[in-house]
Amino acid sequence: MLPLHQLLPSSRHHIRRCARSFTKASERPLAQSFYDDKIVTYASRPIKPVTLKQLVRFGQPPLSQENLRQCALYARTELPVRLARRVRAFQTLPFIVGTNPYIKEIYKLYYDSFEMLEQYSHRRDEGDDMEFADKLKDLVDRHTDNIPTLARGFLECRQYMTNHDMAVFLDDMIKARIGIRLIAEQCITLIQHSQSHSTTAHSSNDHSNNKADTNCTIGIIHTQLNPYQIIRNCSDFVAELCEFNYGQSAETVITGHLDTTFTYIPVHLEYILMELLKNAHRATVEHAKDLGSLDRPPPIQVTISQSKEEIGIRIRDQGNGIHEQDLNKVFEYSYTTVKNPGDSPDDDDGSSGGSIFSGMALMAMQSGVGGPLAGLGYGLPLSRLYARYFGGSLTMVSMKGYGCDVFLKLKHIDESFAEGLEI
Ligand code: ADP
Ligand code: MG
Repeated sequence: MLPLHQLLPSSRHHIRRCARSFTKASERPLAQSFYDDKIVTYASRPIKPVTLKQLVRFGQPPLSQENLRQCALYARTELPVRLARRVRAFQTLPFIVGTNPYIKEIYKLYYDSFEMLEQYSHRRDEGDDMEFADKLKDLVDRHTDNIPTLARGFLECRQYMTNHDMAVFLDDMIKARIGIRLIAEQCITLIQHSQSHSTTAHSSNDHSNNKADTNCTIGIIHTQLNPYQIIRNCSDFVAELCEFNYGQSAETVITGHLDTTFTYIPVHLEYILMELLKNAHRATVEHAKDLGSLDRPPPIQVTISQSKEEIGIRIRDQGNGIHEQDLNKVFEYSYTTVKNPGDSPDDDDGSSGGSIFSGMALMAMQSGVGGPLAGLGYGLPLSRLYARYFGGSLTMVSMKGYGCDVFLKLKHIDESFAEGLEI
């Protein structure tokens, strides 16, 4: 037991600490409002759209330090504004929706990301570009699963918001997300490229290895993207998913302008095609199963066309089509004919036209690299947003009782067209 006199100073110290922490606690609401003020200030700044042409120009080879500096400067000042606007958008949601744990999680993510990047908007120290790129990478990584998380949140909040209000919020949020990721990823790629270039410049050994790829890649933009190759890769992947989940798969036959190449963002095209092919394959295999056919399901036919203005991709399946009354619904967020993942297969009497997945298979689907085969009801609305983002379109035509045609049209992002595109 310590004598009292030895305890006293530390007690005094403790009281002083308590007093300090009390002061701090009492300041907390102020600190909070200080940050909120910051959010309001940033969110009130206008967005400075960047054209695709500018993004291309930032990374035009040979990559100059000046171009790189401009790209980083743009990202440093623009991203906090865009993130602050996202935070504000969450704050306009009905209070009860904002308290949903999934929605709150994504709100917090945007809030934290704003705070993380905001400090870089004041710093103009070019020496910290790598550090900035790491922060951007962290941002991109941490926001990877935003959409499924938001989807869950909004599913739980269906009774508190109209479908229309939810769609307006999600359209806006997802479009903004595409823009934020584009700017961040372009900046990361350019910074990393310049860094690796400066380190490999001394060791000339494998300098030529990346040359072919670097020639047609400007940051995250590919100038000679071959749709045939992407369709091939995606359909192989989806066929594997089907084999795993249904024990069979359909063939994908690709015709048309197979050698066509164009300038586009590969991840966007891959996303759209993956979703459309998953839908076509799922409908085809499930319909064949419904018919009790022992033959291999009929092939998915994909046709590629190229004209001066656009690239067209038609995906044609024989998956029985969609009811007229459901054709408007398929582009709504959360509309799906997949039964609730929590349902046991026995609960499904097949009357809804929904699929019969075993819990195990569905788990495997959910954790697949290309996302689940189906189930969120976000595939079509998101694919259409991606297609429209650069002036393209996505339309669906159903021949009930036979199958569906999906038409994807993407504009050429050539020099002249890119001038008018703002992201
Ligand atoms: P998900 O695939 O997660 O259900 P989507 O937005 O991709 O969500 O599709 C929504 C719904 O539209 C699907 O559940 C399915 O009922 C219907 N659908 C989409 N594509 C097709 C198709 N090619 N043939 C028949 N139905 C389709
Ligand atoms: Mg789908």
